[in-house]
Amino acid sequence: MTEPAARPGLRTNRIGRHLPTSGGLEKTLRIAREQALETVQIFVSNPQGWAVPKPRSDAKAFAEGAREMGLSPVVVHAKYLINLASPDPDHRERSAVALAAELVAAASLGATLVVVHSGSHGGDGEKRGMERLVKGIGRAKELAAAEAESDGVKPAELLVENSVGAGTQLCSTFDTLAGVVEEAGVRVCVDTAHTYVAGYDLSTPEGARDVAAKLRAALGDRIALLHLNDPRNALGSHRDGHQRLGEGHVSTDAWVELFSGLPGVPVVMETPYATPEVDAEQVRLAKELAGGLPILQKGV
Ligand SMILES: [Zn+2]
Ligand SMILES: [Zn+2]
Repeated sequence: MTEPAARPGLRTNRIGRHLPTSGGLEKTLRIAREQALETVQIFVSNPQGWAVPKPRSDAKAFAEGAREMGLSPVVVHAKYLINLASPDPDHRERSAVALAAELVAAASLGATLVVVHSGSHGGDGEKRGMERLVKGIGRAKELAAAEAESDGVKPAELLVENSVGAGTQLCSTFDTLAGVVEEAGVRVCVDTAHTYVAGYDLSTPEGARDVAAKLRAALGDRIALLHLNDPRNALGSHRDGHQRLGEGHVSTDAWVELFSGLPGVPVVMETPYATPEVDAEQVRLAKELAGGLPILQKGV
């Protein structure tokens, strides 16, 4: 990643959001178009259950439509139940199998990235948890590669997301996240709300500049995606909660600094849905805070 410089009017962060798929993927694409999204994130299975993703008859049309609209990257968020770091071997294996299925299902929809939570060590310490997480990532990738080969596709890329650091959750600090992903050979998704409640104060312009610099120093080119959420809860509270931009703890000027400190990193908002007008306005606001509505096409 190059050193950031002030580039007014030249936005390099592509902006999108998480969208529902419940009305069919055609509807998902329609909303993406209406809101002028440049990236999109979806679930490919119920995130709260273990059921594996079902093959979808609209998968190919979605992949083609997303490509035609220039949606890039298309991201899948993996199940919340997955815990590759669990002390329970059955839960670990179940998690690796579930994640592998998501990596393959994502590819069949033309999605290139799958975000998974870093998980929890469950009580026997961070070190052992991190070792299990690294192994679990390897196991999921191996299972996905085998499954994808028989399907004739290439599995999507796995990204590990930073946590809020509640209870025994792993990877709420940039250094522990870096430790895991370097060893596992994967990239990361950084959630701004998680970052803040984990104790990194990005709520002011100076703070955001400093947090972006810390992120670059710890993770550099491994930062593949930003989850752009305004934190609902207090600094260091370790409690998750996403608000719309301008409705949480972060000042709008701070976002400007965060974007300029993380040039080129694509962005997905996971903020509460409102009316189509409010949702579209949030996307517009994020684009403006990231440097303006037009996007610098070069190198994207
Ligand atoms: Zn997440
Ligand atoms: Zn969250």
